[in-house]
This record gives sequence, C-alpha cells and structure tokens, in this order.
Amino acid sequence: MDDEQEAERRRLRKLWREYHAAHEEAFAVWRDQGYPYPPPKLPSMPPELVGLTCGAKTRAGTPCKRKDIYENGRCPLHGGLSTGPTTPEGKAKAAENGRKPKRKKRTP
Ligand SMILES: [Zn+2]
Repeated sequence: MDDEQEAERRRLRKLWREYHAAHEEAFAVWRDQGYPYPPPKLPSMPPELVGLTCGAKTRAGTPCKRKDIYENGRCPLHGGLSTGPTTPEGKAKAAENGRKPKRKKRTP
C-alpha cells in the first residue's frame, strides 16, 4: 500500500469514526427520552463509507476484505487485543480472579 492509499484509508477511517460518534450521540438522546415513537431520524451513512473494508494486513500480506467493522475501523479479527479492565471495580475483580484457586473439573 503506497502513501496515497494510506492517506485515503486514514481519511475514510476518520470519517467512519465521526459517523459512528454522531450515530451514538443521536441514539443516546433517544435513549434518554425513553425511546419515544417514532424513532428519530439517524444520520445516514455517507456513500463513500458504504462497503468500507477492514484493510488490515493479513498473514498472506494482502489487505483484509471484511466489511463488518467496528468503531475503530477494523473487523472483529483485526480489532486488536482487549485493553483489559478500565474501571477500578473491574481492576479489583480481575486482581481477585488471580488469587482464587482453580475450580476442579467436573465430569457429568
Ligand atoms: Zn480485518
């Protein structure tokens, strides 16, 4: 992938994140109002984002072609690793899991 394609890809991913954020915001407003009927008109997807692919480099060296992408612009296979617990409660829970003895395997 050359620099021009890379820049275009970066621009599209930025546009995708903006579209996703606008969508989430509109949905949050609707949720806060208690989901009144009819649902609000959500922002429509810009035509250039239709069919946006993940584009991550695969083991074969080719760009990933999956179109089911997350907010970060990557597919479920290339979204990256989990960053772990973020809230203090979650961190405490994770730390506690390390101290618990392993559960014995139960056979039916
Ligand atoms: Zn992918």
